[in-house]
Amino acid sequence: MNTDIEKVDPGSPDPETIARAGKILREGGLVAFPTETVYGLGGDALNPESSKKIYAAKGRPSDNPLIVHIADRKDLARIAAEVPESAVRLMDEYWPGPVTMIFPKTEEVPMETTGGLPTVAVRFPSHPTARALIRAAGGYIAAPSANLSGRPSPTSAAHVAQDLSGRIEMIIDGGNAAIGLESTIVDFTEEIPVILRPGFINYEMLKDVLGEVKVDPGILSENEHVRPKAPGMRYRHYAPKAPLVVIEGEPEKVTDLIRKYLEKAAAEGKRAAVLCSDETADSYERAAEKIRSGGAEQNGKNLCVMVSPIGSLTEDESIARHLFGQLRLFDEQNIDIIYSEAFDTPRLGQAIMNRLLKAAGHTVIRAE
Ligand code: AMP
Ligand code: MG
Repeated sequence: MNTDIEKVDPGSPDPETIARAGKILREGGLVAFPTETVYGLGGDALNPESSKKIYAAKGRPSDNPLIVHIADRKDLARIAAEVPESAVRLMDEYWPGPVTMIFPKTEEVPMETTGGLPTVAVRFPSHPTARALIRAAGGYIAAPSANLSGRPSPTSAAHVAQDLSGRIEMIIDGGNAAIGLESTIVDFTEEIPVILRPGFINYEMLKDVLGEVKVDPGILSENEHVRPKAPGMRYRHYAPKAPLVVIEGEPEKVTDLIRKYLEKAAAEGKRAAVLCSDETADSYERAAEKIRSGGAEQNGKNLCVMVSPIGSLTEDESIARHLFGQLRLFDEQNIDIIYSEAFDTPRLGQAIMNRLLKAAGHTVIRAE
């Protein structure tokens, strides 16, 4: 299949492009599109055949449910059987926006869309292109992230094309995603709402609106026997090809230990990378210079140390925005081993570390 890539002005997409994409969706085809969180791989949520195609294009396990995207709160009634008052308060505050809510589903939502579950996840994105497309498609787009299953979520159209070119009808290119991490997921089918996936709308923001909110023990625990309730959170995810090791501890001890690891990797002829904050990049760059000037080629490889700062600790939204793209860059650079600082920042630390630890397969070393 030939994948048509169409560039749009994200704030005001060309109506003809949106109409064409909407037609593809109404006829059961697939279109990847930008949202404020990451790029989504869209199909008609009420058409079971479209949902099956989404799973096939991504190579996604079919028990991993899709999020249904709407563009008008009125449209919720057709797909959600019961919406508690606390959820309405959350919508008042953060919809349209980067938070997904789970409700008991109506019969209109096919089991193919919900991975066989009696519940449906719903999001109302704020991105103007996403909203225009949802309306053009008839109101309901099922969309997981537009990556191949297991790879980092896409934050640009180029990432989508890397994974899905030739597998879907169209990619709408609306530039880089503003947030860069997938939506927060809150389950409203329990007595007290439960966070199934941390995101840009963080625990404190939810608590302010909901009063009481729990965190699914499955997303915090390193014990593989504590299963996350969101099926998608159980799978290995976001993983770059190279092993990724997270180093935690006091900042100075972390930089010291990572510098030692970089030297060790170079001595073994490995191409190493460090994922770090803007604040510490210089100290790694000095170590990298030393390594580069010391050795030319070993084992036929060009000795390389890639120092990759992804944002300031005082502005963790930048770290969130650049994380997935940087993980993809390590693959392109054929890196052998990646060392990452832990990003325990107050606002988005929980969401960032959730993704980073999954990418690392929970390989964490404490710098002592
Ligand atoms: P993605 O859009 O690729 O980030 O994937 C959607 C996420 O939402 C996955 O982690 C799913 O397991 C989760 N999800 C979707 N629907 C439900 C549901 N009904 N119950 C629990 N988790 C859900
Ligand atoms: Mg995903």
